[in-house]
Amino acid sequence: MQTTPRSVRLHIAIFGKRNSGKSSLINAITNQELAVVSPVAGTTTDPVFKSMEISPIGPVTLIDTAGIDDEGELGELRVKKTKQVLAKTDLMLLAIASDSEPKEWDESILAEAEKRCIPVIGVITKADINPGDVAAKWFETAKLPYCRVDSPQKKGIDRLKELIIENTPQDYLPSTIIGDLISEKDTIILVTPVDAGAPKSRLILPQVQVLRDALDAGACTMVVREHELQAALDNLKQPPRLVITDSQVFDFVSKIVPAEVPLTSFSILFARYKGNLREFLNGIKAIDNLNPGDKVLIAEACTHYPSHEDIGRVKIPNWLEKKVGGKLSFTWAVGSDFPEDLPEYKLVVHCGACMINRAEVLERLSKCKEFDIPIVNYGVLIGYITGILNRVTAPLEKHK
Ligand code: SF4
Repeated sequence: MQTTPRSVRLHIAIFGKRNSGKSSLINAITNQELAVVSPVAGTTTDPVFKSMEISPIGPVTLIDTAGIDDEGELGELRVKKTKQVLAKTDLMLLAIASDSEPKEWDESILAEAEKRCIPVIGVITKADINPGDVAAKWFETAKLPYCRVDSPQKKGIDRLKELIIENTPQDYLPSTIIGDLISEKDTIILVTPVDAGAPKSRLILPQVQVLRDALDAGACTMVVREHELQAALDNLKQPPRLVITDSQVFDFVSKIVPAEVPLTSFSILFARYKGNLREFLNGIKAIDNLNPGDKVLIAEACTHYPSHEDIGRVKIPNWLEKKVGGKLSFTWAVGSDFPEDLPEYKLVVHCGACMINRAEVLERLSKCKEFDIPIVNYGVLIGYITGILNRVTAPLEKHK
């Protein structure tokens, strides 16, 4: 259970002001002492993440956040981090202590959730102290489902879990990456280059996830490096149903795979699975309008040490500058960082986003849309640069 990647778990985040019982609540839900509980307001500083299983939903990540009413210079930084959690939240628990009244902070976090269409469950904590009628009335007026919880005694936790199950958004994760593109007993080939950028002794997460998805679909999967692809094709009695390659070797692979065999890439599949393939395809027109000196943001959703062949640090900048015919000004955003100064950029280039959840990718797409900044992902960009974008998106035709 613990090996399910965080990026495919339902993200349930607990928000509320300081000392509203958030940490006790996460401890009660998980039945573990994860978060430090103290009567001193502001004990939780950075968000705390905990993976668990909630049947029948499956694997979830619970997130305990710092108080939304935190003060001072450090407090403001903590509030900023708390608000960053909104970007990855699939379901919000809004905690209000039974002996306090909802304040403007609660109003503002609720407004943020509504803006992002995040479902919210009200939780009246410390229910042993007070019935919490004021908070209950507030939740009722806001038309939110709610429950009362006494965390130390674990009272109300079963009801809260029922509400979580009832209010989980059905579309927080599409059910398949390639299952709808292939059928049982189809043969598919995965092309996974082993170069200086490949992690030692393992496949990267998108490759593993596609492989698992193919197994679930009952397909027969061959995994090869690009230099063994020709031999793999020659050994098959029938052409494969689909070839999925790392986009970095599009040029090489597309010359080997016969034109009638569908070809795509891991990051194009992930553009559909995690985000919105159409949005990424719309962004591609911006490449032709780039001029030397323009600012380009490259967003990589994880931190890794870049190699000399790094796709985001070396290859994509080189390809883009060659296309533009001059130097561009690149900025890199890694992990959860995604800059606020988006209007400065002429283009955002995003990685396959295997390490963040769909909600966070959609939040980034929506930010770009808000400022009318074109965004593409690695696979779409490389497909365009190598002149095979139509071919490699054809297998996902209905999503274009
Ligand atoms: S850079 Fe992006 S696609 Fe590559 S491993 Fe990190 S999160 Fe996944």
